Amino acid sequence: MTTPDRRTPALLAEERALLFDLDGVLTPTADVHMRAWSRLFTPYLAEHGVAPYTEQDYYTYVDGKPRYDGVRSLLTARGIALPEGTPDDGPDEETVCGLGNRKNAAFTAELEENGVAPYPGSLRFLEAAIAAGYEVAVVSSSANAKQVLRTAGILDRFPVVVDGAVAREDGLAGKPAPDTYLDAAGRFGLTAAQCVVVEDATSGVAAGRNGAFGLVVGVDRGAGADALREHGADRVVTDLADLLPDLPPAPSSVPPRKTA
Ligand SMILES: [Mg+2]
Repeated sequence: MTTPDRRTPALLAEERALLFDLDGVLTPTADVHMRAWSRLFTPYLAEHGVAPYTEQDYYTYVDGKPRYDGVRSLLTARGIALPEGTPDDGPDEETVCGLGNRKNAAFTAELEENGVAPYPGSLRFLEAAIAAGYEVAVVSSSANAKQVLRTAGILDRFPVVVDGAVAREDGLAGKPAPDTYLDAAGRFGLTAAQCVVVEDATSGVAAGRNGAFGLVVGVDRGAGADALREHGADRVVTDLADLLPDLPPAPSSVPPRKTA
């Protein structure tokens, strides 16, 4: 698939809000997830006398999947069958959901112990965009989005956060459906055409295309520029700071007029 009528890059002046994905766009959260999965599976697999947990297991069985699906995939690969359980299961329960919740607890512990900092280029762009008068929102599938934003010290920048918890409560379909992004636009009283979607995943840029947003920016953190364009990115960058020249000048940077 191609995007025949690709918009020119310097269109940020046309839009009024920037809707950011979180993991991989604002924060390098994949590392935290990887460490949390290791914290769950390294002791668990050792206790069960099966092949030890490796980083490759993360990419093969876990990456990008909903949490319980990741648990089930890896256990199946090691020949371990557990009852599914329910999302209410405690982290000590020997069920798929229990282990998934144990991973979530490990994620929280990782965040608390090691913290997470925003990508420097993303922080610079975010601050410049806010100074230039843009509305900004976070639109993330993660139920931990607010916790990550708080740990990264940027939660207070975002009047609107549409995360996994909001999506579940409001019955919003996940990416690549555009619903969560459209919900964020609506909270600003804006149309999709007035908003920019910023995403690092192919499912995320597809959500931007599916919602007919004003501009879809793909951030290539490994998905690949071609894949991001094929799925809906109008523009691909490797760092959000690459977009700084596309912002209109901040009102405060205009020299004050001399008074008579
Ligand atoms: Mg992402």
